[in-house]
Amino acid sequence: MTDPKDINEEELKASLGPEAYQVLRERGTEAPFSGKYVHAKDKGMYKCKVCGTELFSSDTKFDSGTGWPSFDDAIPGRVELREDNEHGMQRTEVVCKNCGSHLGHVFDDVPAGKQAVRQDGGLATKRYCINSVCLDLDKT
Ligand SMILES: [Zn+2]
Repeated sequence: MTDPKDINEEELKASLGPEAYQVLRERGTEAPFSGKYVHAKDKGMYKCKVCGTELFSSDTKFDSGTGWPSFDDAIPGRVELREDNEHGMQRTEVVCKNCGSHLGHVFDDVPAGKQAVRQDGGLATKRYCINSVCLDLDKT
């Protein structure tokens, strides 16, 4: 994984493109149903787009119907949760612990029924709502 000290914001902006850069480094949100991993069912590890840290396993991914990739849990120790009171809402922001890039938010509102079924067959209890542009899937 990339050491955050080695990240050059100008180079990063050029390599990510303005949309992904705005989400990852300026805490933006991609449009719902626009991301390439919304309905992805491939097995593998989802890594941070900026630093390459493995963040989420496809085992915990579920199709919540919200328009963003949803995970029941993060790989232990890889993300940091921060209180976010912007836009008149009380939310919990999810950030890459290694490089500080914004990933999305985590909610308790898991849908009922088959939309809560994880790819490994378990039932989700949390909804890590993560922007596709923040992730790179390493297929196994
Ligand atoms: Zn990162």
